[in-house]
Amino acid sequence: MPTEKVVPSSATKSRTPRATVKFVPELVYFEPGALDYPKGKQIMAWVKAQGIEHQMTTSHNRITNFPGETEVEQYRIAKRTLVVGVRKTLKFDQSKPSAEYAIPIGTGCIGHCHYCYLQTTLGAKPYIRVYVNTDDVWSAAKRYIEEGKPEVTRFEASCTSDPLSIEHITGSLSELIEKMAQEEFGRLRFVTKYHHVEPLLDLHHNRRTDVRFSVNADDVIRQFEPGTSRFEERIEAAGKIARAGYPLGFIIAPIYWYNGWEEGYRTLIKRLAESLPEEAKRDLTFELIQHRYTKTAKSVIEKRYPKSKLEMKEEERKYKWGRWGQGKYVYPDEKAGALKTLISEQIYEHFPTSRILYFT
Ligand code: SF4
Repeated sequence: MPTEKVVPSSATKSRTPRATVKFVPELVYFEPGALDYPKGKQIMAWVKAQGIEHQMTTSHNRITNFPGETEVEQYRIAKRTLVVGVRKTLKFDQSKPSAEYAIPIGTGCIGHCHYCYLQTTLGAKPYIRVYVNTDDVWSAAKRYIEEGKPEVTRFEASCTSDPLSIEHITGSLSELIEKMAQEEFGRLRFVTKYHHVEPLLDLHHNRRTDVRFSVNADDVIRQFEPGTSRFEERIEAAGKIARAGYPLGFIIAPIYWYNGWEEGYRTLIKRLAESLPEEAKRDLTFELIQHRYTKTAKSVIEKRYPKSKLEMKEEERKYKWGRWGQGKYVYPDEKAGALKTLISEQIYEHFPTSRILYFT
């Protein structure tokens, strides 16, 4: 658990690019029992060392009134609030197709990606929650691994958060990586838009954790992903991860149709190829996900990011029925086909030994 003082992004804005700083919450709540665990105590020590305001709460469900005049302001403050608690539900959600189960180490994210799916899945609870009882979570994971034998059971650690963005506070991802290294029949994976990989580089991972970086055309990152690491930082971090021996992949998502998209995605793949060290180019995987939205997501995005230029016009989309009733709006076949073809060709041109796992 690091104890160095981390400087909030607002204090360094003029000198340092925004994404190089680590997240520092403005307010931290501790739920009952959290301080009974070593991780809860460690987080409290970190909070005190940072001089962050903190208080106890009987439950995160009671944290409903965030300061701010408007809903947008309240949302922004909620995203800078951390809740430290004990994970009670140890039955894991499914996480098909990328893994069998979602492994819970936290929820919420410090980023402000306009199209983030957490907008709808977390609804009125956009604050960041972390769990201190990672030993209980790991025991549950072990049971799933045992049940799944002789098949390999995969766990996704980024279903409800970006775990790297809070790793300097919890250390939970590192714990999972080292534990998974011992499991012949278990694999861990996570995806991130952050570059703070240092804590992971010296871990014993045994190549049983897949690290994926979410990347996009530069215009898309700059317009729609405030609060995340810049493209160059993610690529540099990807190189470090590859040199540390982890299996590496990229998720290009959401693939977005805009004026100049061909050049944008060509440049993206070219820059990846130019920037990555040779060892990172071996056995790369790519996952390609086109932009989609639901009607619920659209109304939340319009409220929270009222100036967003994210295009969500139903008349320009194709409706795709969803398994749970609510359908999504994706690109019509012609546009989706053009996106898939150009990006796949570029990937195979620059990374002939890589694999595209899917386009969806
Ligand atoms: S970094 Fe990922 S989890 Fe965080 S806001 Fe952006 S899309 Fe959502």
